[in-house]
Amino acid sequence: NILFLKGFMILFLSCIATRFNFCLSNNPFSLKTLPLEGHLSFDETSLNKASKDFGNRYQYHPMAVMYPKSVSDIATTIKHIWHMGHSSHLTVAARGHGHSLQGQSQTHGGIVIKMESLKVPEMQIHVGNSSPYVDVSGGELWINILHETLKYGLAPRSWTDYLHLTVGGTLSNAGVSGQAFKHGPQISNVQQLEIVTGTGEVVNCSEKQNEELFQSVLGGLGQFGIITRARILLEPAPSMVKWIRVLYSDFTEFTRDQERLISEENAFDYIEGFVIINRTGLLNNWRSSFNPQDPVQASHFKSDGKTLFCLELAKYFNFQQINIVNQDVERHLSRLNYIRSTLFQTEVTYVEFLDRVHVSEVKLRSKGLWDVPHPWLNLFIPKSKIHSFAQFVFGNILTQTSNGPVLIYPVKKSKWDNRTSVVIPDEDIFYLVAFLTSAVPSSNGTDGLEHILSQNKRILEYCQRENLGVKQYLPHHNTQEEWRDHFGTKWEIFSQRKFVYDPFAILAPGQRIFQKTI
Ligand code: FAD
Repeated sequence: NILFLKGFMILFLSCIATRFNFCLSNNPFSLKTLPLEGHLSFDETSLNKASKDFGNRYQYHPMAVMYPKSVSDIATTIKHIWHMGHSSHLTVAARGHGHSLQGQSQTHGGIVIKMESLKVPEMQIHVGNSSPYVDVSGGELWINILHETLKYGLAPRSWTDYLHLTVGGTLSNAGVSGQAFKHGPQISNVQQLEIVTGTGEVVNCSEKQNEELFQSVLGGLGQFGIITRARILLEPAPSMVKWIRVLYSDFTEFTRDQERLISEENAFDYIEGFVIINRTGLLNNWRSSFNPQDPVQASHFKSDGKTLFCLELAKYFNFQQINIVNQDVERHLSRLNYIRSTLFQTEVTYVEFLDRVHVSEVKLRSKGLWDVPHPWLNLFIPKSKIHSFAQFVFGNILTQTSNGPVLIYPVKKSKWDNRTSVVIPDEDIFYLVAFLTSAVPSSNGTDGLEHILSQNKRILEYCQRENLGVKQYLPHHNTQEEWRDHFGTKWEIFSQRKFVYDPFAILAPGQRIFQKTI
């Protein structure tokens, strides 16, 4: 009886302790006592900002927003929550620039860490060896890295189309743009990382040190740790860019040329493409500030009623190379099968080219068209299925308008490291197809959110039905079953790694892959 009583007392007391811990950890006052160099904010303005993102569709209200000044601020906070174990429901979402689409950088009732406040390490550029690099904070914006590295005549090798995104945010996905065929995505151009794991440990990792953590975090959707520092590989930067667009009416010719060009790594430095549906003309594409030398001719191309495909190319150069570059470009273009009267070119500075989407952002913001819902859908499609996909989607679903740019370009699997967490199709060449739609708020028509979402659903259902082996990029799934399906053979290792580096599922709850159990 005494033993039974003793056992009962222990159980009772541990329940009270757990309850007490639960109250403590979920209580803002317990956070306020943490020794931080930065600060935590509980005010409504900060909380409201942290519960929004570019997608403009999901809103989760956090309990606090942290503005870290040091890596130890982040480590201390996560360690505090980790020590509370299952008794706390607190989760932590690193927020880069908040350009997620479905609440991925948000947390309901948890702590959002505003990574842009983390200004350490100060950007350090190392030029003195054959492979120069820059060390940056995980919260640094790519546009700032561009400006800083250019002071040394250098720049990162692989980009996204838009540079007002953070290093930690894009490395958690992949970071893909028209340079990926040549250098791979951004996650293939990182040498070293510093990570704060889900237990609050600060760990350096690379291919040679803590390799498993390094590979897990790249494309890891924020699940294994917070990237506080990254070492990014650089290359000599050009000063100018020859920017070219040519049109195709035949999808087979278009993709054949794209695939031919990505196999010749020295032909161009950037290769993308997009679809022009009906009146979405060559010039009124919000995504770029392309001003061809012959704007009158370009404005004629409104493709009324027809679907056209635009191949977009760029060649980097310095002024003294202009003649050689012109000849080189002409030679490569002469082998392509575009509609001959549709060659549009311009020359811009390297910065103007890389920061092209920002110019449109400024314009759209001034018209109140930036902060609208963005029901984007990004897909990786195996090369062998791209024709059936295009036939179905552009022949049956997107026939009248695309409600925004539709990008389509191939990349090579050999430039992606299969040990990282990112999920790609199992074919040597696969296409990124990105439906970058904007919805008109409260419209019930074809430009409204409901209509676009139902189109996205039809596209995804078609891919599933026809078993195309398509994978979502910047993935969004509703159930763990869907996530398992997304990761396929990588699921086991992904979930094992989660258990090792973030066993209580504290990190990046907005991805909704794992749930914190309390
Ligand atoms: P957030 O949206 O804030 O975060 C994204 C995810 O990463 C969240 O789960 C968050 O918790 C996690 N996270 C953030 N910081 C860290 C960190 N330091 N450590 C660990 N996890 C972290 N993508 C491309 O690949 N190519 C493109 O060309 C491209 N163009 C885009 C253009 C526009 C206009 C927009 C809005 C997005 C574009 N994207 C593109 C997508 C973009 O890469 C992702 O949305 C990315 O997540 C945004 O980065 P962010 O810094 O805003 O991250």
